[in-house]
Amino acid sequence: MPLDLVTIPCRSDNYAYLMHDAASGTTICVDVPDAAPILDALAARDWALGQIWITHHHGDHVEGVEALRAATGAHVVGAAADAHRLPPLDQAVAPGDRLAIGDQTALVLDASGHTLGHLAYHLPGAGLVFTADSLMAGGCGRLFEGTPARMWDTLTRLAALPPDTLVCSGHEYTQSNLRFALSVDPDNPALRARADRAAAARARGEPTVPVPLAEELATNPVLRADAAPLRAAMGLPDAPAAQVFAALRAAKDRF
Ligand code: ZN
Ligand code: FE
Repeated sequence: MPLDLVTIPCRSDNYAYLMHDAASGTTICVDVPDAAPILDALAARDWALGQIWITHHHGDHVEGVEALRAATGAHVVGAAADAHRLPPLDQAVAPGDRLAIGDQTALVLDASGHTLGHLAYHLPGAGLVFTADSLMAGGCGRLFEGTPARMWDTLTRLAALPPDTLVCSGHEYTQSNLRFALSVDPDNPALRARADRAAAARARGEPTVPVPLAEELATNPVLRADAAPLRAAMGLPDAPAAQVFAALRAAKDRF
């Protein structure tokens, strides 16, 4: 049975997600920018929160953890490598570990680059991956701690997931990301169509996430670093794709 997925806007431009398995009555929250909108979403559905899965230590992803734990008794899961800078963990996990929701398995993936210790959670049976500030809609997170090579390794592994996987990322940065994308990949019709759809969704007040991985592969410039138009835009026709990615990420920082 598929999982129910709820995208919850938090703060000015963050997202938390709820996953719910109706058969077992299990609900999991991925990241807690602040507790109030998540408690409202739980109450509206009469769901009891069982677990909180944290992607990384930045305040805009964890500041609501203690309030949500206090209100629900949820069990908090996060990276063992970052336990010293996360809220107290009930379960410390590492890449390669497995978690469960009902009869679905979640694989813990290393998604370092934005921070070292950033995790992603991939549920192959449900076709979901929670990427927070690693792979984002139309882009990727800034490289605060990792090298470009480390983020490129993360992006390459995420790009190899099944293309129908829904990418659940952590911010509403899509239109800004797509403006940069259009500046380096202007002749990509799929990208232009995506930018139009994103503008329409935002005009209706709707989130632009989650996004099927196939759409990211066709339009996200950081996943297209190996494609001829992006190589040409960066003036790197023959460089390794990781180097083209590094140039794209640096250009986005200056954009
Ligand atoms: Zn972050
Ligand atoms: Fe963030």
